[in-house]
Amino acid sequence: MDTNRETQSTMRTSRRTFLKAGVFTAAAGTATFITTGRVARAAGIDNEGILTKAHVTGASVKKLGYQEGWLGTSKIVAPVQRTREQDQGFNKAIRGLLGSDAEHQVINFIGKHPLGNAFENMSMFLGVPEAVDGKPSQDKLPLPDIERLTQHIKDVCYYAGADEVGVGKLFPWMMYSEQAPVPTGTDWAQYKIELETKPGTPVQSEKYQYCIGILVDQGLDTLLGTTGYDGISGTMSMMAYSRSGFVADILAKYIRNLGYNARSNHNGNYAMPLLPALISCGLGEMSRTGDCVLHPRLGFRHKAAVVVTDLPLVPDGPIDFGLRDFCSTCQKCAQNCPAQAIGTDRDQTAFKGQYMRWAADSDKCTQFRTTNREGSSCGRCMKVCPWNNKETSWIHDVGVFAASNFGFAGNILRDIDDMFGYGTEVVEKNRWWLEWPEYCQDWTKAPWLKG
Ligand code: SF4
Ligand code: SF4
Repeated sequence: MDTNRETQSTMRTSRRTFLKAGVFTAAAGTATFITTGRVARAAGIDNEGILTKAHVTGASVKKLGYQEGWLGTSKIVAPVQRTREQDQGFNKAIRGLLGSDAEHQVINFIGKHPLGNAFENMSMFLGVPEAVDGKPSQDKLPLPDIERLTQHIKDVCYYAGADEVGVGKLFPWMMYSEQAPVPTGTDWAQYKIELETKPGTPVQSEKYQYCIGILVDQGLDTLLGTTGYDGISGTMSMMAYSRSGFVADILAKYIRNLGYNARSNHNGNYAMPLLPALISCGLGEMSRTGDCVLHPRLGFRHKAAVVVTDLPLVPDGPIDFGLRDFCSTCQKCAQNCPAQAIGTDRDQTAFKGQYMRWAADSDKCTQFRTTNREGSSCGRCMKVCPWNNKETSWIHDVGVFAASNFGFAGNILRDIDDMFGYGTEVVEKNRWWLEWPEYCQDWTKAPWLKG
């Protein structure tokens, strides 16, 4: 049985039932939801360990398991080919493939803000080879049954600072075919030559069977204060990158101490693109942006790290909370993207002939983020997305409940967001950071970048 098709069919039926029942019936149902104050625990993130945080959200989340020809709600139409890290967006910018301005700006588009530079530095320290990988201990420690062990591994992550954790199956195609040469200094002209000419390091994906996804929230309060592309934007990314990298490095070392292989992947050192692994871990669905996994509680207001391992674990598996129907009509990110990098087509198309997703131009996004002189990087799509949660807003929970249960009615969430000005607000009192527009304009003037 094709569970994904069955799910879609169920959703269409729900939509018809909703329409047939009429708006008033639906409104009454929603009112009941409001008055009872029910906030459903998301079924796909039902971790119950002592250290698990309160993962409450209005979303209804279905667990999909693993289906031939699908990864969660993403249809795979041909074998997915492994890619090279050298061909990833920022490496393309370094190689000069996205224009000379992006080539010049990419090396300091985060570091041109002094706080962004501080977080980015930490992320790079966490990426040294000895921190992300190593040999496991010679002897394997006695361990509890795998259900208890899986929960324990999640609790380690929460204890170290994760906001959401999931476990998935890892398939070899989810890792890069080769990792780019690691920069050895600040001679970027030389590194550009190395990226073009030096062979990368082949990635041995076969020795890992599981992945552990770690999300860290970029912070609602700060997001409420930012425009989405001002000086703090890059800092928000690097704060969550460095914290998720910290958790991942500790977890990987701990698993190696238990006697198993484990390698962490984060902003400081990647052997894989994270998106497929995060879907496999049940941490979200593919969104309209094409390269962001959207979580039912955090939206894509997060940064992630992934640990790959051969430690036997129980996978959570991919989830479905109705995002495919929702993104097909919402389009709020596309309408607010300053680079027109996100498409507005209703339907998905086959990306590189391999899997279905909405058309998006990640090169345009990388160009904009690296060359944005009004700030550092960009997170405008993250700010406006209606799934980006509002912790204390019951009306948002009502919208999320509708979005994940009633296909077309999902637009209620977008309407609620628009009505309340969510995503376009800039809360002045929340602008706690300092801005230095002169350095965002021209990083060559920044004293901390002068050595
Ligand atoms: S980060 Fe900015 S430029 Fe990139 S897709 Fe989002 S809104 Fe567009
Ligand atoms: S803004 Fe709307 S279309 Fe874009 S990712 Fe969020 S839900 Fe999907």
